[in-house]
Amino acid sequence: KNIRIALDGPAAAGKSTAAKKIAEKLGFIYIDTGAMYRTLTYKAIKNHINPKNEQELYDLLMNTVIELKPGKEGQLVFLDGHEVTSEIRQQEVTKNVSDVALHQLVRSEMVKRQQELVQNGGIVMDGRDIGTAVIPDAELKVFMSATAEERARRRFEEHKKQGIESDFQELKAEIEKRDHIDSTRAVSPLVKADDAIELDTTHMSITDVVNKVTEIAAE
Ligand code: C5P
Repeated sequence: KNIRIALDGPAAAGKSTAAKKIAEKLGFIYIDTGAMYRTLTYKAIKNHINPKNEQELYDLLMNTVIELKPGKEGQLVFLDGHEVTSEIRQQEVTKNVSDVALHQLVRSEMVKRQQELVQNGGIVMDGRDIGTAVIPDAELKVFMSATAEERARRRFEEHKKQGIESDFQELKAEIEKRDHIDSTRAVSPLVKADDAIELDTTHMSITDVVNKVTEIAAE
């Protein structure tokens, strides 16, 4: 069945890792929408545009090509034809992305672009507003949560594996700050869609999550 799966939830809940594996298992396309907001943020920083300046961000976005392409180890991201897959994960981008993503003009353009990518289904899309704004009629909606403590722990371990040194308390504070901005913004705040299935993954492994979602998708 070529269904559309909307996967939402707070920062560092393991959404992209799970989405990638779910897509692999089902033979679906995987789209990480956070990468689009991160790419705009990265370009804004390079162009010295203040993340609070809605009009300038919008003008910048209208002159920006963001492409998401499947790669061997997940989604590759291109900004105006140049690959920025790893650049958009930099701390500086992470710190500013939620301020960029709160503007109405930015969001409506992003949602429009994301809807063009959805087409005929066979897709797993992850983000914050997929089930509420991007694909409100998705066949399956999942809201992945976990305590901030556990999410910070996962991000910390992920960094350690990549050889990146990080401070646990700092990571936790950054995650909580992003969640706060994302869930209190006026336009499409981060919230569980009424018809989404909530998965508290605090005590679940990625494999548990993948199995659970693919089971439900097959029903
Ligand atoms: O998923 P990721 O953590 O990479 O997303 C980065 C940020 O982009 C989020 O914290 C949020 O501010 C924004 N975002 C959003 N809507 C989406 C995806 C991401 O507002 N659909």
